[in-house]
Amino acid sequence: MKVVIEVEEPYSLDLSMSPSFISSLYVKLGPNEWAKIAGTLGGSLKLRQVGPSRVEAECALDVPRRLLEEVVVLELGAWHPPFEDLVPKLPSRFRWAAEALSTAYPGVRLPIAPHDFNHVFISVSLSRRANYERFVLRWCRRIWELFNGDLEAIARSSPEELAKVGSSYQVAQLREMASDLLSIPHRLSSIASDLRLPRIRSHLDLLKLKPEEARLVLLRGCRYLGPKAADALILDSFKAPHFIPCDVHLRTVARRLQLAPEGLAVPDKQRCSRYTCIEGVVEGVKGCPRANNCLRAWMMGLSEAGGWFQTLCYIHGSSTCRTASPRCSSCLIASQCPSAST
Ligand code: SF4
Ligand code: SF4
Repeated sequence: MKVVIEVEEPYSLDLSMSPSFISSLYVKLGPNEWAKIAGTLGGSLKLRQVGPSRVEAECALDVPRRLLEEVVVLELGAWHPPFEDLVPKLPSRFRWAAEALSTAYPGVRLPIAPHDFNHVFISVSLSRRANYERFVLRWCRRIWELFNGDLEAIARSSPEELAKVGSSYQVAQLREMASDLLSIPHRLSSIASDLRLPRIRSHLDLLKLKPEEARLVLLRGCRYLGPKAADALILDSFKAPHFIPCDVHLRTVARRLQLAPEGLAVPDKQRCSRYTCIEGVVEGVKGCPRANNCLRAWMMGLSEAGGWFQTLCYIHGSSTCRTASPRCSSCLIASQCPSAST
């Protein structure tokens, strides 16, 4: 079955898919052409951008058309209109950079896969302090082959079985992380006694919570899962475009473009497990005392464009404004950059 999805311009399948953790469920076949290899419709779905506002989805399985369209719209990021439309409304301290970066990298959206939450959790967990292109994609593909993304099988696995994926600590810790996530429903009353949450039967019911509630529960309930990874997991599986994973590229680009005051702290697990950045977002949880000195809280001035702006910084930081050696001579926004080296 083939469906054509109309996407409002500007839209780029490559620029939306590549920086997203959803790309770990795909292989890139060519320019603007991706095949899904794991998760829902894995092995059966191909996506191809066939025009500035058209994406063709071809599915080898006989699934209801509505289901196919629903999955594809989410994974393309087409569930949200172009973030470029929000730029004129951004605070002036961010607006010029959002304009410059989105002109350099047009059509970026935020793919999400709530239906593949386990896979996204695995990919995000493996990405802690690891290069996504070099390591995480390779580990994920091996895990899809060996465990098919089955968290229970991973939680039951032996160290020897996981060692077939890789010898890094990120892979070794995946067993405990999977086991922690799966056991959250049984531990909810102890880890979230101060939150007024409904009972959840499965960890997948976390998707029914407010994203800020899910963030608190994930950080409290999963060893090794820090704020950056929790934010990335939520950004890639909830409709929460205001979530901002504070990765190294956001820190670097924000500093070089002078988008934030010098010396802001990065989110830390201890505070993020206890507070919300803004008081009142989650009933019964206090606002963070560090909110006026934290990069995430500062960047939340971007509101609904926060996750998109972070993605632009990821694309720019990983390709051009690299932390160790920025490529100013080939930078598309050099003429506006206060840190450009000539
Ligand atoms: S303001 Fe506090 S709760 Fe919010 S990200 Fe920063 S450290 Fe975490
Ligand atoms: S000019 Fe250099 S420092 Fe400025 S954004 Fe471009 S690569 Fe980064």
